[in-house]
Amino acid sequence: MRYLKNNSFHRFSRILCALLFVTATAASFNAHAATQKLYCFVCRDSIKQGARFIKMDGKTFCSKQCVNKYIETKLPKCSVCRKPAKGECFKSGDKIYCSKKCLSTTFPMCIICGKKASGGSFFNGDKRNFVCPGCANKPRCCSCLLPCADYRVLDDGRHLCSKCNETAVFDNEEASPVFKEVRAIMKKELGIYTGHHVPFTLADENTLKSCSNNDPSTGQEQGVFIFKTSIEQTVTDKGEIVKSVVKEKTYSIIALYGLSRKKLAEVMAHELAHDWMQENYPDISDLKVKEGWAEFIAGRFNSALGNESFNVRMDYNPNPVYGDGYRLFRDLYKKGGMRSVILYLDQAKPQQ
Ligand SMILES: [Zn+2]
Ligand SMILES: [Zn+2]
Ligand SMILES: [Zn+2]
Ligand SMILES: [Zn+2]
Ligand SMILES: [Zn+2]
Repeated sequence: MRYLKNNSFHRFSRILCALLFVTATAASFNAHAATQKLYCFVCRDSIKQGARFIKMDGKTFCSKQCVNKYIETKLPKCSVCRKPAKGECFKSGDKIYCSKKCLSTTFPMCIICGKKASGGSFFNGDKRNFVCPGCANKPRCCSCLLPCADYRVLDDGRHLCSKCNETAVFDNEEASPVFKEVRAIMKKELGIYTGHHVPFTLADENTLKSCSNNDPSTGQEQGVFIFKTSIEQTVTDKGEIVKSVVKEKTYSIIALYGLSRKKLAEVMAHELAHDWMQENYPDISDLKVKEGWAEFIAGRFNSALGNESFNVRMDYNPNPVYGDGYRLFRDLYKKGGMRSVILYLDQAKPQQ
């Protein structure tokens, strides 16, 4: 399992709503002749005989103030407070804001500090995971992969946010029924299962890293599937191998301790998908196909449990192996269901 973040920024521009500065100079001054009764278009006061008044847009006004009030009604309205937007305003999309204060109400709220900010990052590609620049450098939770302010430090140095900590699984007795349940759901809901025994254990970060063959530069791993074979060889006196027989195959899965229950289940589903592939397509070696398949099945597992939102991370994962691989299978599935996915695997295996 790997992670990376996506960046995005709230865009707006400064504009000048200058209509107000077209003052009464643009209008014409007149003196009221006694022929007819005149009323100010704005305040409705009658204009006395002989008094000066202003004409504009074919309307009559008693004063500059009334002209300005009239002009204000023609200015664009602030999208937030509905007041006329005058002077320096802000534009975002097709909306206008009268002030920085009104504009800032539209900024996304940082999930860590709760402050609204115009720039920042959407973590895991998810619009709900907005983090302001100040909070982006905070330690990452090893379970949800988001920066966190409220966390505990685990024995192996990882950080665990308080939310993930609520359901975090720390010991094998607790993890074992979760693993059984995940296997059962995958068999029933997705038809993905193998018959052999797969022991499951929790481990710290260093143990997990030492069991993984993957290049650590591609991201953080939360679980690993281990497949081993023992081979019995018959060797002649001269040291020639005359017979080589696979004696035993062993399968096991390790995941990090301290992951939230839902995250742990997703990691288990990912690793069990590797187990299924080892059994059914053992010759596929392309990492993008292997990890893409495992992420895709983990995503299908999340969907089966109604945790569709967990898959947003995969939808936007920029990693060329995990992200691109996931989207490859996701799109195959969208077009032609599981049939298309299996057909792809059939073609991906090396032809003898
Ligand atoms: Zn007036
Ligand atoms: Zn406003
Ligand atoms: Zn913040
Ligand atoms: Zn967390
Ligand atoms: Zn994997």
